[in-house]
Amino acid sequence: MTKPNIFLIAPAMDCKERNKAFGIKLPLLGYPAISLPMIAALTPDTFTVRLVDCANEPVPYGQPCDLALVVGQTHHMPSAYEICDKLCAMGTKVVLGGMHVTALPDEGLKHADTVILHEGESVWQDILADFSKGALKKTYEGGPVDLATLPPIRRDLFNNTFYHPGEIIETTRGCPVGCQFCAVKDFFGSKFRVRPPEAIRQELMELFGPRPPQAKWKDWLAAHWHPDIPYFVERRLLYVMDSNFISEPAHARAVLEVFKELDIRWYGHASFNLMRDEAMLDLMAESGCMSVNIGFESINQTNIDKMGKHSNKTARYTECIKALHDRDIGVMGTFIVGFDDDTPAVFDELADFILENQLETAFTLTLTPLPGTAIFKEMDKENRIFSKNWRDYDHGTVTFFPKNMTPKQLHQGMRHVWKRVYSWKGIWQRILKKPRIRPFFFLPVNMGFRKCTRILSSEKVWPTPNQKRPSA
Ligand code: SF4
Repeated sequence: MTKPNIFLIAPAMDCKERNKAFGIKLPLLGYPAISLPMIAALTPDTFTVRLVDCANEPVPYGQPCDLALVVGQTHHMPSAYEICDKLCAMGTKVVLGGMHVTALPDEGLKHADTVILHEGESVWQDILADFSKGALKKTYEGGPVDLATLPPIRRDLFNNTFYHPGEIIETTRGCPVGCQFCAVKDFFGSKFRVRPPEAIRQELMELFGPRPPQAKWKDWLAAHWHPDIPYFVERRLLYVMDSNFISEPAHARAVLEVFKELDIRWYGHASFNLMRDEAMLDLMAESGCMSVNIGFESINQTNIDKMGKHSNKTARYTECIKALHDRDIGVMGTFIVGFDDDTPAVFDELADFILENQLETAFTLTLTPLPGTAIFKEMDKENRIFSKNWRDYDHGTVTFFPKNMTPKQLHQGMRHVWKRVYSWKGIWQRILKKPRIRPFFFLPVNMGFRKCTRILSSEKVWPTPNQKRPSA
């Protein structure tokens, strides 16, 4: 008997320029969504599974597909819906998942047979059973899955010609903070969940194995170039994709001990809180941490307080960056512009901050009212959203009327920050001047961002003449 074929599809934006700008083609940063290879790992071998990453390959419509799962973010949805419509027309049963359709399930059901709300892993077996009986339901309410029950992701499905030579892992899920602009708390739940460190150790040990013994070439590269280079050559590079790696400090410490034992280089995301814990910072450095991405979000404390990220203290940002630099850990800062307290002065203030503090990278995004978030509900109520074309929700396009500037000023200001930060002078000042943190890692990443700057949101979206800013 032939096995039913399942396509697990990660849609991409349907504009090549934007894909290049905000997605997937950045050196050392391009990974497919981890949820799909995880779903593949939970699929019994009575099915044949294929992973399709539309950022790199077209959907193979000519090939038999009995069931498709499509998971994308808001800016992917126009393309995702097109894929769903085509597959449905061919007789494939189509399931949609992810944050966007969790927020807007009725919209998703116009293009798919079934919608998964919240995390899909907990209901995937039910979906497969119902599919086999020909009795798929319209919606499946997923829930916070116990991470201890999840197997390693199906890495064998990755086409490695698309991705960089490092590995990716998830060690925690959930967030209790609930920033106004973010859907993580609503989607993953407010309780932190952790994967057992022993399971992480076993998985990484299989991936990396013990580090090969020291050799002359490694000594030479470390002495003449940089101690990181042998790790790059040996491909002992790991990306920890959690929203906040240190959410459970005891767990984070146990995982850091695993990284230390494995002797790898890694980078991931952590909250500003990490600066409070000197011992954690030291252990991060010892465990091979090259870089931490911190969601600074804004350099204006009023914005921070309004968004609900009370742990962030802008007055201590410089201290936080220095604590990491002192340990030879680079800082990748994420910032958002367009908050209600931002004026046109914010752009130069932000660029000055990034340059003066020598952030190794800065990802400056336009505030985007994603469906399902508090900020979407608020702006929608105030009639401030002028584009609900989800294609524009790529964090580089303005979709709403900001309070203290025009949409055009916001768009141009965001680009201005990128231009200053990724100018040759900006790269020199941040990467090559002392403290010169891990330049062989950050230079290629900066080159990627510099390229993005040129094409960043090249298609502008402005309100049409009949869309007026609501009066205050
Ligand atoms: S931005 Fe970070 S801290 Fe805020 S809700 Fe999202 S995941 Fe949590």
